[in-house]
Amino acid sequence: MIDSFDYPDDAYLIGSANNLLVGPQHPPLMKLSKTFDYIKIKDKKLHIGAATPGGKIVSFCKKHNIANFEFVAHLPGTLGGMLQMNAGLKEYEIFNNLHSIRFKEGFTLREEITYGYRKTDISTIAFEGVFEIEEGFDPSKIGMFKQMRSNQPNNPSAGSFFKNPPNDYAGRLIQEVGLKGYQIGGMAFSDIHANFMVNLGGGSFENAIELMQLAQEKVYTKFKIRLENEVVIIDSRYLTKNSGA
Ligand SMILES: Cc1cc2nc3c(=O)[nH]c(=O)nc-3n(C[C@H](O)[C@H](O)[C@H](O)COP(=O)(O)OP(=O)(O)OC[C@H]3O[C@@H](n4cnc5c(N)ncnc54)[C@H](O)[C@@H]3O)c2cc1C
Repeated sequence: MIDSFDYPDDAYLIGSANNLLVGPQHPPLMKLSKTFDYIKIKDKKLHIGAATPGGKIVSFCKKHNIANFEFVAHLPGTLGGMLQMNAGLKEYEIFNNLHSIRFKEGFTLREEITYGYRKTDISTIAFEGVFEIEEGFDPSKIGMFKQMRSNQPNNPSAGSFFKNPPNDYAGRLIQEVGLKGYQIGGMAFSDIHANFMVNLGGGSFENAIELMQLAQEKVYTKFKIRLENEVVIIDSRYLTKNSGA
């Protein structure tokens, strides 16, 4: 647990582990403590600690009539995990109203951070996000975001497995190469939404990696498109990103 701006540099930081595939050869893991679970208004801006869960953010915005965070109601995770990958639903993204992020060295403005669709260049620990405040919490949007999820499976998963490539959908490509519903061991590409890799019971890390590689090979062979992971793999053999270092 990290409860100050000092942290070990040999461990990997996780949020609430919703977007992770953790293998047997993972580095030591660390988490932000409750010290970074807070939300407050200061100098007309919203200050949110990186360990704050999405549900708490939405409740606060509802209570204080703050707009633009309704989509977080259906996004499992903490603010830190959302900032790291610019999480969102369609065009509703966590960076939209971001003003700055507090890192160990101090605040960095949004303009100084490179970000795009489900990616940022954040490579160190975010301790706090500061957001512009716009009035007008819209409860009807919560239902709209719930509806957007109606084509997604309820089985355990890490959300969308691959990022959508430009002008296409990873789920469509996986389906086109015949892998929708395809199962290896206990893991499968869901027969409800092909870009959700689900654990049907007893699925292993190796099953997941085998499925991932199979989809990447088949999609590349047929479409010459390289599917890029949205899920972060934490295993020394495949480590895709290390925010903790
Ligand atoms: C059913 C389901 C549906 C989902 N749907 C969506 C969706 O529609 N859109 C979407 O964008 N995501 C979606 N996700 C993924 C997930 O909700 C987001 O990625 C979320 O931001 C993960 O937050 P987390 O706290 O669990 O992060 P983790 O999964 O623990 O970590 C994710 C990454 O963030 C880094 N990280 C965590 N905290 C910090 C920090 N303080 N500073 C720097 N880096 C940090 C970690 O090192 C890791 O690289 C879904 C997941 C599930 C399980």
